[in-house]
Amino acid sequence: MDQDKLHLALISSPGMGHLVPVLLLANRLATHHHLHVTILAVTTQTSPVESHLLSSLTPSTLIHLIQIPSPPFSHLLLPDDSVVTRLAIMMREAARAIRSAVSAMPRRPHVLISDLFSTDSLPIADEFGMQKYVYVPTNARFVALTMYLHVLDKEVEGQYVDRVEPLVVPGLVPVRGKDVPDPMLERGNRQYDEYVRMGVNFANLSDGVLMNTWRDLDRRSLDALKCDGILRPVLKVPFYDVGPLTRDGYPTPLEGIEVIEWLDRHPVDSVLFVSFGSGGTLSGRQLTELAWGLELSGQRFMWVVRPPVDGNAKDGTFFTAGIGSTGPMPTFLPEGFLNRTKDRGLVVPLWAPQVKILNHRSVGGFLTHCGMNSIHESIRGAVPMIAWPLYSEQRLNATLLTEELGVAIRPEVIPAEEEVGRVEIEKMVRSLMESQEGKRMREKVKLLSLSAKKALEINGSSYKSMCEFISSCEMKMKSA
Ligand code: UDP
Repeated sequence: MDQDKLHLALISSPGMGHLVPVLLLANRLATHHHLHVTILAVTTQTSPVESHLLSSLTPSTLIHLIQIPSPPFSHLLLPDDSVVTRLAIMMREAARAIRSAVSAMPRRPHVLISDLFSTDSLPIADEFGMQKYVYVPTNARFVALTMYLHVLDKEVEGQYVDRVEPLVVPGLVPVRGKDVPDPMLERGNRQYDEYVRMGVNFANLSDGVLMNTWRDLDRRSLDALKCDGILRPVLKVPFYDVGPLTRDGYPTPLEGIEVIEWLDRHPVDSVLFVSFGSGGTLSGRQLTELAWGLELSGQRFMWVVRPPVDGNAKDGTFFTAGIGSTGPMPTFLPEGFLNRTKDRGLVVPLWAPQVKILNHRSVGGFLTHCGMNSIHESIRGAVPMIAWPLYSEQRLNATLLTEELGVAIRPEVIPAEEEVGRVEIEKMVRSLMESQEGKRMREKVKLLSLSAKKALEINGSSYKSMCEFISSCEMKMKSA
């Protein structure tokens, strides 16, 4: 190992959704900036897909991986604790093992970077004379709201979701109470307290925050975070927009050849891709309404269908309704749906090669649950969206796409709260795929796609921001 080179340690909490962004950041630091990176991955059990990812995304000899088994923590949980609370408690308990791992490293890293859930490990850096940062693999709007939450917590009374007036965070487009991230939905719940604590830790325990976003995606919130006089005096630390860091593909059980061949047969920008992320599902009734909406719209579609959240995946019937199949039909799709739509619709069970699909010339729209990876992939493929947020921070992401960027349309109701009816779905699909408004969005998203590419190029905004972060670390390293 080159002793003069900056060495960064990145902590990842368990689960693909947390590990992948950390691997992507590590890869960027190693392959584009030639720095040494050690990933401290707290793992529960590594699945074959995770193992494949770990090996495929750590090709560089500059990246070293240390796996840390998750500590016992169930004795600290209450029966109805959410995933957020569980993860936060687990990662707090893992701090001791993380400390031991750092202490045992033959060449101590200069910088410690925590993920969202491991900020309680940042004081380890002080002990070993390291610099300390947080990496948040999402946008600046989310970061600003999270870090400002402790102020809202003092100023606002009652539940945020019950408010008619939106929440005001200086410099941001106001946040509707109904659009807050899940942990903010119920004040008094333990996950709310964990979330407030995270935001406070970003400002009080770190030397700065890196985000997976770029200037043209998040202009307004980035200005609020970075420019003097808006949020900066409250949030104090420097911010670095270093994205979009996305993967080019994802290990997939399907090769996806049939799916791509199907797309090849359709005209440019004519197919709506419908998918709800790696695990998102709808209720049986909502699936039925969606099927009707797609059928009534008369548009071409490719739909990744999963068994509904409230059951109904009957004895394998679901899986036989495979690619192009008109065979036995899942009970939640309207009778005759597959047959009536077989010339213009494809139902893909469970999983599809999303990145390839979004980059296919035939795909002209994406009905998405607004997970940040899906949004980045859609923008990179220059595909406008129908925003159908389900959980987590997805409602906040949906407002970024609709209100700030104008590259998506959104149902009147909040889908997690109320069913979206077939008539509204039909209207949204037609509007995105064939109206002037849809065309305008397609033009805007093309520009945004270009800006994403440029941001990462040498002298692009994200490239420069990453260089600023690295120079600041190197300066401190030399003066230490
Ligand atoms: N994905 C995929 N095929 C599918 C469903 C999802 O390749 O059928 C990938 C998708 O490309 C994205 C990730 O899974 O990279 C989902 O991440 P996102 O942040 O959008 O949502 P999450 O699953 O974390 O809610």
